[in-house]
Amino acid sequence: MNRRNFLITGSTALAGVFLATNPLRVYADHHLQGDHSHGYELPKLDYGYDALEPHIDKRTMEIHYGKHHQGYVNKLNAALANNHALSELSVEDLLRNIKKVPMKIRQAVINSGGGHANHTLFWSTMISGGRELTGKVAEAMQSTFGSLDAAKEKFTVTAKTHFGSGWAWLVVDKKNKLQIYATKNQDSPLMEGHTPILGLDVWEHAYYLKYQNRRADYIDAWSKVVNWKQVNLNYLAAMKA
Ligand code: MN
Repeated sequence: MNRRNFLITGSTALAGVFLATNPLRVYADHHLQGDHSHGYELPKLDYGYDALEPHIDKRTMEIHYGKHHQGYVNKLNAALANNHALSELSVEDLLRNIKKVPMKIRQAVINSGGGHANHTLFWSTMISGGRELTGKVAEAMQSTFGSLDAAKEKFTVTAKTHFGSGWAWLVVDKKNKLQIYATKNQDSPLMEGHTPILGLDVWEHAYYLKYQNRRADYIDAWSKVVNWKQVNLNYLAAMKA
């Protein structure tokens, strides 16, 4: 088995999601091809900066994707500049194996690697007009949280009430059960062995230009562009892994 095949079969569930469903696989392809001369890279957006208007505005997308996400990628590359073994891993595998990352660079990898992985998922689960919540993930949400409305409400409250910077998540846990919770800063559920299938960025940089202090308005607007079809694909891939 050559290295490429090894890496493909060894990919994590989340990397598998990206490869299988295609929208944001730039870094994955890059790493699978064994070309590490440029390190981790921003994934390509599947839509234009203005595609999510008026809910998520163009200027926020430009800065959030082009400056913030790029910044996480740059810092991750800098942190791993002298560690070839680690830099050959997908960012998901890095986070899943965070305890193997040397203490000296661990927090940098948590912050920047988390930032890279979290935003990559975030972009891929939004789409102009949103998509209907159906399929296996909808069934699982109903049985886990009582109803789709109850599940959405739990997610919304989690995002709204999280103090400070962080993320709200819908994840598949180690027992293949759905969970909704928040993490601080760029902490990724992958570090707990969970597979995030939907994430909402509640850092102020995600909404301040358009919504200022009104996080609840931002969350409501975001709910109109959620690509539940992609979330369902993420769910199926996570359950398979
Ligand atoms: Mn962000």
